[in-house]
Amino acid sequence: MKELIAITGASSGIGLATARAFHEKGHPLLLLARRVEKLKEFEGKQAHAARVDVTDLPGFRHAVQEAEKKFGLTGCLVNNAGLMLLGLVHEQNPEEWKQMYDVNVLGVLNGMHIVLPGMIQRKKGTIINISSVAGRFTFPLHAAYCGTKYAVHAITENVRKEVAPYNVRLAIIAPGAVETELLSHTTSEEIKAGYEGWKKEMGGVLRPEDIAKAVVYAYEQPQNVCVREVMVAPTRQEP
Ligand code: NDP
Repeated sequence: MKELIAITGASSGIGLATARAFHEKGHPLLLLARRVEKLKEFEGKQAHAARVDVTDLPGFRHAVQEAEKKFGLTGCLVNNAGLMLLGLVHEQNPEEWKQMYDVNVLGVLNGMHIVLPGMIQRKKGTIINISSVAGRFTFPLHAAYCGTKYAVHAITENVRKEVAPYNVRLAIIAPGAVETELLSHTTSEEIKAGYEGWKKEMGGVLRPEDIAKAVVYAYEQPQNVCVREVMVAPTRQEP
């Protein structure tokens, strides 16, 4: 049997496209999301869908253990769950920052904390963290969100060094603009409209499948090859 691939935020966008890509390649899957009803297409397939909020460490750990009982140990974790709540710091509801840091940063740490001990012991494994171009560059209205993605970049690079001696690898995939549900959670209609206008000016943005391909590329290299970072953005995206 091929290795188990665990994907957080598998119920839409990049996570769902990544789940489909690994399924097509014959991998058993652990699919984590709060809206498991969005994962019906995987019913009866080699997949374990679990209703998990990535900020809930015990729930996350339990789901990994259940999937591993069925499909063997986790070969790769794709830490993809995230949310983007745009706004100006002097105007935005501070609750929005907390939500983003909880999911985008602590959720990623939770995932690594759960699967790394087994990978270190087996001297094999891959963690793929979905960051963003907003983890390398700053954008207007993105202060808190950029902070979360800069954190994902920094944490990933740091943990990569911690586990490199154990032959465990970490990759960052940093997408530019992709057509998903991500923007829909931003509360300001004006900001959303501006963002949609920016996407139109570029003649459209990437499809989630474009990012899934980069995830699979990073995973499919031999274990001694670590794709440290891939940034994938629309050709016409400037910043
Ligand atoms: P979507 O909103 O389409 O997907 C986000 C996913 O995260 C959903 O499956 C959602 O599932 C899940 N999620 C959100 N909060 C939680 C939580 N607390 N616990 C578990 N799952 C959660 O957006 P994208 O596909 O675009 O986003 C995926 C990743 O890609 C994010 O990290 C995002 O920051 C990053 N990214 C996206 C870009 C884009 O332009 N779209 C650009 C750069 C990076 P559910 O609600 O069912 O729990």
